[in-house]
Amino acid sequence: MRLGTCLVGWCLIAMTTAYASEKRPNILFIMSDDHAAHAISAYGGRLAKIAPTPHLDRIANEGARFTNAFCTNSICSPSRACILTGQYNHVNGAFDLDGRVDPGKQMLALAMRSAGYHTAMIGKWHLKAEPADFEHYCVLPGQGQYHSPSFRVRGDKPWGKNTVEVPDRHVTDVITDFSLEWLQNGWDKTRPFFLMHHYKAPHDYFDNAERYDSYLADVDIPEPESLWVRDPLFGSMATRGDQDELLPHIGTSIGGRNPRRSYLRDLPKLYPEEFPPNYNASDFSEEENTRLSYRAYLRKFLRCVKGIDDNIGRLLAHLEKTGQLDNTVIVYTADQGFMLGEHDYQDKRWMYEESQRMPLLIRFPKTIPAGTTTDAIVENVDFPATLLDFAGVAIPPSVQGRSFRAVAETGTEPEGWKQEAYYRYWMHMAHHDNPAHVGIRTKTHKLIYYYGCNYDGGYRTPPGWELYDLCSDPTETKNIYDDPSQQSLVADLKSRLASTRERVGDDGSHFPKCEEVVKQFWDYDAADRKDAALISHEFLNRRLDELRRDIHNPFTHRTRKRKTAQKQP
Ligand code: CA
Repeated sequence: MRLGTCLVGWCLIAMTTAYASEKRPNILFIMSDDHAAHAISAYGGRLAKIAPTPHLDRIANEGARFTNAFCTNSICSPSRACILTGQYNHVNGAFDLDGRVDPGKQMLALAMRSAGYHTAMIGKWHLKAEPADFEHYCVLPGQGQYHSPSFRVRGDKPWGKNTVEVPDRHVTDVITDFSLEWLQNGWDKTRPFFLMHHYKAPHDYFDNAERYDSYLADVDIPEPESLWVRDPLFGSMATRGDQDELLPHIGTSIGGRNPRRSYLRDLPKLYPEEFPPNYNASDFSEEENTRLSYRAYLRKFLRCVKGIDDNIGRLLAHLEKTGQLDNTVIVYTADQGFMLGEHDYQDKRWMYEESQRMPLLIRFPKTIPAGTTTDAIVENVDFPATLLDFAGVAIPPSVQGRSFRAVAETGTEPEGWKQEAYYRYWMHMAHHDNPAHVGIRTKTHKLIYYYGCNYDGGYRTPPGWELYDLCSDPTETKNIYDDPSQQSLVADLKSRLASTRERVGDDGSHFPKCEEVVKQFWDYDAADRKDAALISHEFLNRRLDELRRDIHNPFTHRTRKRKTAQKQP
């Protein structure tokens, strides 16, 4: 409440000065859901040739492409909360999928509006509370539907009860229609616009518009090597268990590795047309089954991506036709990346490259030279400061992130720019069997600490550390944490992780029981490793028992909710 009041107060002050400034550009912020950078052809990679994204590539080619943009917590609501508030999740409180940003705290909307922008939020919102700080909104309830979607709009009834139904249409087309309609008839053209245009696609379970049903049907989709070969040095006690005993149980899989949840188990039921007629997994080898699941997965995912790219073409064409294209800062991103079969993992949540990295393309030819690329490290908490900077709006003191506008305009980072991206995934073992972790990524290395517990220190999985050299091993196949020749690097990165935690304010006070575990295994000496092996055995027994009883880890974010509500001294 206090923060909300401060923000509103700050905005009133900002308003008086901002109106006076020169003509400001429109801002179109386009965000997809789970659209990994390596599924955009401007980023190259194994899919670039078979599944090109020409309209997204146009934004990249005519603007700036960021190769080191990262989310600080690779999951939907938390990333959206970072972008709206400019704060890390331990500050904005959106630790997990229960995360919300209440009216009065939707900083980016408030600041833009106070500075004279006409603000609109169209598409996937996923922050529970009403997007009331936007002047116009039309948002999906929660995840929303791929087909015949319903939207929540402002109206006479309470939040959530005023709806618009769009039968027989695909959600990506509808969201674009709504934005085009608003740009034509809703936007007050005496002011610049700030439009957040958020696609639901390609979030799972993927469902494309019918017109893409045959797209890629006859194309061999390249596979990542790590789908097949798990380097013996990849991962740690945390992700493999003692003597690899947890390999089946950590991380949901493409093939049948994870007995609880895999695409092999789910996709034949969801997309039977992508599998051979009368498909029965037992008629195929393990390798054949994994390949069939992977193909079904990538086809459905990339068909959704194709729908996004085509619809972005419609947006660009409209802006061009109406003479707004070059006066609009166009940003394309996704709330985080996605594992497309790397390491036989599905989903996001991981700090591994494919999941932690966000695509980030910005087009604004007035100040950004075409073809700019940069490897400066930027985080999603920096996005709102950057947008406000482009808009010529002062950045509220509540914002932790920093504007990287100058980086976009010059391709180089200013003196003193951050050299570490911070990462923390809190939602321990929920949904996709990913243990909670914290870490930093530099331009050359990644240090990950799986401390392995939920908010109250419970549901333990074995703690473990991983260190990857991203120069010599960009696909993260060799954990060099235990390599004797790397011990000074390990010590240096651990100290940088500690100081980064301090810098961002993730000081352990939010969940003290969890922090006890974080501290306990920080050194990871011989005694810690022995304890970790015991935790591994205990977790294996627990998981096997759960599988026998067909139950799964009670979603640990709900544990947090209860704990937070109780507020034990
Ligand atoms: Ca997402």
